[in-house]
Amino acid sequence: MNNNNLSLIYLDANATTQVLPQAAQAALQAMEHQFGNPSSSHITGLQAKDLMEQTRQKAKQVIGAGNGKLIFTSGATEGIQTAIISALVAARTQLKANNQTGENYYLLYGATEHKAVPESLKHWNHILDINAKVVAIPVDSLGNLDLSFIAQHAAKSLMICTMAVNNETGVFQDLKQLEKTIRQASLSTFWMVDCVQALGKTALNLEHTSIDYAPFSGHKLYAPKGIGFVYIRQNTPFTPFIAGGGQESGLRSGTENLPGMAAFKVIFEQLLQADSSFAPQNTLHQYRQQLADTLQQAFPQIVFNHSFANSVPTTLNFAIKGFSSKEIMDLFDAANIRVSSGSACSSKVTRSFVLDAMGLPAWQSESAIRLSFGPAMTQKQINQACERILFAAKALSQSCMVLDDTNLNDALNHKTPLQGLVQLRSGASCTWIYADAKAKQALIIDPLPELTQRIDTLLQCQQLTVKAILDTHGHADHVSGRTLLGAQHLNDHQCDQLGWPQTPLRLRDNKQQFEYIEVADKWLVKVPTPGHTNDSISLLLCTPLRKHDTLAQNTLFAFCGDTILMNTLGRTNFTNSCSESMYQSIQLLSSLLAPQTLICPSHDYHNEFATHMMAECQRNPLLQQVIQGVVSVDEFVAQKQILDSQLNDNVGSEIICGALQSQCASKLSPITEYNRETLDLALNAAKVKLIDIREPHEYVLQPSMQSCENVPLTRLVQFMQQHQADNKFEWVLVCRSGSRSLAAAQAMQRLGFTHIAHLKGGYALSGTPVKAAVQAA
Ligand code: PLP
Repeated sequence: MNNNNLSLIYLDANATTQVLPQAAQAALQAMEHQFGNPSSSHITGLQAKDLMEQTRQKAKQVIGAGNGKLIFTSGATEGIQTAIISALVAARTQLKANNQTGENYYLLYGATEHKAVPESLKHWNHILDINAKVVAIPVDSLGNLDLSFIAQHAAKSLMICTMAVNNETGVFQDLKQLEKTIRQASLSTFWMVDCVQALGKTALNLEHTSIDYAPFSGHKLYAPKGIGFVYIRQNTPFTPFIAGGGQESGLRSGTENLPGMAAFKVIFEQLLQADSSFAPQNTLHQYRQQLADTLQQAFPQIVFNHSFANSVPTTLNFAIKGFSSKEIMDLFDAANIRVSSGSACSSKVTRSFVLDAMGLPAWQSESAIRLSFGPAMTQKQINQACERILFAAKALSQSCMVLDDTNLNDALNHKTPLQGLVQLRSGASCTWIYADAKAKQALIIDPLPELTQRIDTLLQCQQLTVKAILDTHGHADHVSGRTLLGAQHLNDHQCDQLGWPQTPLRLRDNKQQFEYIEVADKWLVKVPTPGHTNDSISLLLCTPLRKHDTLAQNTLFAFCGDTILMNTLGRTNFTNSCSESMYQSIQLLSSLLAPQTLICPSHDYHNEFATHMMAECQRNPLLQQVIQGVVSVDEFVAQKQILDSQLNDNVGSEIICGALQSQCASKLSPITEYNRETLDLALNAAKVKLIDIREPHEYVLQPSMQSCENVPLTRLVQFMQQHQADNKFEWVLVCRSGSRSLAAAQAMQRLGFTHIAHLKGGYALSGTPVKAAVQAA
């Protein structure tokens, strides 16, 4: 397979679909020839109206609408509004007639519902001044709605909103059972079923149900965006959501979307035809099984987040132990496979509220990937997708994220020996690994337990011997991964509780004596820096000190744990903390480090990678005052107490280890942004140097631009250390979407890289890279 021009494999049908060619053709035909306004009484108008009514009839046939109404909308979100407004207006009238208020009533929705549902419920409940309690119906671990909860609350519910098929997991509800539960409790409660993901995937026969409202959307099933419809049961109350020219019999005004309807009509015909190009259910099941088997082969640590028994065959939601969803998304995107992270991004923590509602373990929710396809999928496409997934997974060995036991000597297996510092992260916590390629030795600092597998794989892949595994302090927020890793990689290692060996060497600096150990051709010096905790130490990785050398001159990296964090200081309000000691520790560190020695902390809350004293002093007045000695220990203790009292203890599942100071208005200038044209010009004029900051597996799958160096974010701090004085060129950072490159450029600029820029929109907006750096098999 040539990775240079990998064709697109689209496996994100639950987000949206490509318009079926026949449907696109029909839309074009409508735009060019049946372009009339269905409200016009001339022949062109009548023809347009006929097309619209034919579409409506076919739609009704597909969903078994019987005598129910079918109103065209712009999509499901509008259908949902229409249903909710209709139900709530009717409910409010009823409440008024009975001299009641809504406060004693519920508006129920399934906990795994698309956000459009609860948000609309809350919105209209408020706007219409009903003030009912908007409550989520819990689901079990399989995603099934809690029927006993519904039975208990239905009689007191004005409306119940459920979904036929879930968009993240494909889980379908037993509508018959649900109906029985609702109707046994209440005949009058309005019931909406979001059928968006059910169309074309499960049979619907709405006429034979007591479902009052059912919204649908065209773009989830090969029709264009901007067309949808809502089903309304016969005699169910209806309030127009859009008033105006009286189209749709006054139920939904606005000139109709004829091209959308023309396209949708083709889709309905496909659904109604016995020999359509849509695959039958059993074939779709075979496709899913083939994909699932392939995924299992590609990622043996895979866990599926739903049962195949109660989900439609077109959706697979999974997590891969040891990988975040972002990492898998980046990998798949580089392999030109489009999937979804299956999760909503809230602040910094990416997790799926659907999987959370199902009570799945946090890691499964944080690592969720959704892969979905539609009924137009073919066997050939599935085979291609499976082949590509295996190819992509193999590329992970390039980054030493998996071990490749095939020993194939192809491009995907050509690993460069690891030299220097690697930053691994889990959430905002960091583990640092220093590797020496020649001596084949490694040093691990602050190993996070959840990264044990990844670190172990990296060590094996690079055939590294571990010289020491150290913690900078006893962590309050997690158990160190040191013991587990040590058992695998350190034999008979006599050390203290932080991993420091019992028989170290000693050196003198600034009239003080320090312990150190040798790691390949470097020294690792231990500096006691109590404060955050009594046992806190800083570890300075330096070149060997010859006579008259100082640590300030020789230190490459300072691992200061939670003593100096980016834009803050480590908290000192634990029982084993001491602010007075932190004051002394900061002064000691500032005397030992050069202003621009890179400080590698154990947390990185703002994607800043590393820092140095000079950069911190510019934005952290307290730190500066301590270093300058213009604040007394007592004043420092008092100020530190105030700072720690502002600690927002938990962000997501993490304990914050330092009170984040408000980000003062950045004095840094905005990052220069290139687009494809301006970059080409600069490259031709040899003015810039390109740095591809994607991970090696992405780089090998989608080779980068000509003469481009690959510096993955995990190696950025090493790169910064090596190039701190290198201000000759303008470095232009490039990644997939432009977000990693921007973050890295900002971090570098903050640390003194004045000539730094990035490619806005990344490769995603600049087209495929121009020239291969590596040819793959
Ligand atoms: N409901 C479900 C289950 C969905 O998947 C979506 C789309 O993601 C919607 C509603 C909203 O549909 P539309 O994009 O047509 O507004």
